[in-house]
Amino acid sequence: MKFYSLGNTTSHVDFKTATLKGQAEDKGLYFPATIPVLPSHFFQQIESYSKEEIAFTVMKSYLENVLPPKVLQNILDETINFKFPLVPVTGNIFSLELFHGPTMAFKDVGARFMSRCLRYFAENLTKKITVLVATSGDTGGAVAHGFYEVEGVDVVILYPSGKVSSVQELQLTTLGKNIFALEVDGNFDDCQQLVKQAFSDKDLNEKLILTSANSINVARWLPQQLYYFFAYQQWNDKTNPPVFSVPSGNFGNVAAGLLAYKSGLPVSKFIAACNENDVVPRFLKTGNYEPKKAIATLSNAMDVGDPSNFIRILELFEKDYEQLKNILVSYVISDVETKEAIKQVYKQYNYLMDPHGAVGFAALEKYIQQHTQQKGIFLETAHHLKFYELIEKIIEKNIHSDQIEKLLKKNKSSVLMKADYQIIKEFLLSK
Ligand SMILES: *Cc1c(COP(=O)(O)O)cnc(C)c1O
Repeated sequence: MKFYSLGNTTSHVDFKTATLKGQAEDKGLYFPATIPVLPSHFFQQIESYSKEEIAFTVMKSYLENVLPPKVLQNILDETINFKFPLVPVTGNIFSLELFHGPTMAFKDVGARFMSRCLRYFAENLTKKITVLVATSGDTGGAVAHGFYEVEGVDVVILYPSGKVSSVQELQLTTLGKNIFALEVDGNFDDCQQLVKQAFSDKDLNEKLILTSANSINVARWLPQQLYYFFAYQQWNDKTNPPVFSVPSGNFGNVAAGLLAYKSGLPVSKFIAACNENDVVPRFLKTGNYEPKKAIATLSNAMDVGDPSNFIRILELFEKDYEQLKNILVSYVISDVETKEAIKQVYKQYNYLMDPHGAVGFAALEKYIQQHTQQKGIFLETAHHLKFYELIEKIIEKNIHSDQIEKLLKKNKSSVLMKADYQIIKEFLLSK
């Protein structure tokens, strides 16, 4: 399978090059040249497959000729070696729990897959690989843990000072060794801008093998479609396919879901569940895409004012706005509604949600109120304990667990920096 740049569709590269580069030279995101369509018997018999078999079936065509089948199967087995349970919450709403990985967030899957691919590719490179990544919350921890002690790879993480939760911050600043955390005096968009600048810096890219582990990287993005297949496998009512509500920030996750749909996965509707960063909901209403400065909300990993992956969604639908609107709807959920959802679901159903999952739940609830025949799944993208301070306030109860206590006893180690490209560049060259 080849991948082309969404900046300039003439140059085609393979998965290895797309993974190592992160982004094409023309600054475009890479996109698969063909969308594999899976046979209908795969979907009819999906319950008889193991999750490892599902993963291999879905991923193999993207990696043909780049990873030997055995290597790919091993990488996938390591990537998904925890559970992805579909848990009933109300009569018609289910939670797909994606937080059973090492950093308690769904980004573990993409980070683990990418790190293991890079470990394989690094074996025959002469220079060390530097992974450069901007995080608005959970990417940092997932990437830090996914790459920790991976031979031949250094990781540099940029995160906005004061805008990630204390648990998120500790997960990305306490490992050491090949993991470096830079605390940037700015917001997520500033961090993302600095990363983009580094990738387009010719001089820097001659000196280092620089790659991104953001969701723009195909190795992070592609395996995320597996969540939707795992959910469908566990879905009882196959004649009435699920509505998926996806808490969205940079739009990688929902774009991966739409990719799964294009590969034949039965889905009734996708909901892009957003906090008050509402660029995409407004686009779906007006047809105008107008990026904005990110606003800080309770679901901080979704505080994105110019979602990078949205362009992949447009490409999936060949920019056909009407066709896209048939399958994708979007809701904006305020912080007040997010808190209300957490409180209500805990009281009524004894189920605790994190603020990101709560945005997904609240959006799904709104949709189902208008479409009462439908049942749906919200993606619970992080464990509520990662946000225990907030959750304790909302439910007025102590939920501190051992896991969190242990993390809080670790010491943060990061370097505070101005959002200035020259300073970041010097750091990259000197570490
Ligand atoms: C990153 C993240 C999101 C947003 O996912 P995107 O793919 O960027 O849309 C949602 N919830 C959590 C917990 C996250 O870490």
